[in-house]
Amino acid sequence: MRLNVSDITAEGVQHELRVPVAVSESAGADTADVFIRLSRFGRRVLVEGTVKISVSLRCSRCLRDFSYPIDTSFREEYNPAEDIGTESEQELTAGEMDIGFYTDDEIDIPDIVKEQVLLSLPMKPLCIPECMGICAGCGRDLNEEPCECGTGETDPRLAPLKRIRELINDRKE
Ligand SMILES: [Zn+2]
Ligand SMILES: [Zn+2]
Repeated sequence: MRLNVSDITAEGVQHELRVPVAVSESAGADTADVFIRLSRFGRRVLVEGTVKISVSLRCSRCLRDFSYPIDTSFREEYNPAEDIGTESEQELTAGEMDIGFYTDDEIDIPDIVKEQVLLSLPMKPLCIPECMGICAGCGRDLNEEPCECGTGETDPRLAPLKRIRELINDRKE
């Protein structure tokens, strides 16, 4: 859904909509519930709203797919892209607050929603914070049961240490 900037008033227009968002090329699209409010002051458009979605992510340790809920609110100012570089102040303000740009007098709502979802994704997705991952030796999912490769240390608190030791050993080889 695209909104023409001239249709946005100073009092603001608001929309409730559902937007499909694909966070990666391999994953299918998940649906975001979006509430968005736009108000315009001259050529500047203030966009604020909330985005709720459950995205499917792959755990970076055990490679299992899991559902990651996002519930985020945002407030961002959009300026015409044609104005970039015309004001030297622009760079200063851009560092201080969130400024986006629109082109052809149109605000692309799905684009804004996707950006908000991507900003809310974890750098390193984990199915559970203490995910044990997959054994590098036998490929077993250590969340299900410990394997025989280890030295018998099944205490999950020692798992990170063990992993570091394995990494060091890998380097030596
Ligand atoms: Zn995992
Ligand atoms: Zn193993």
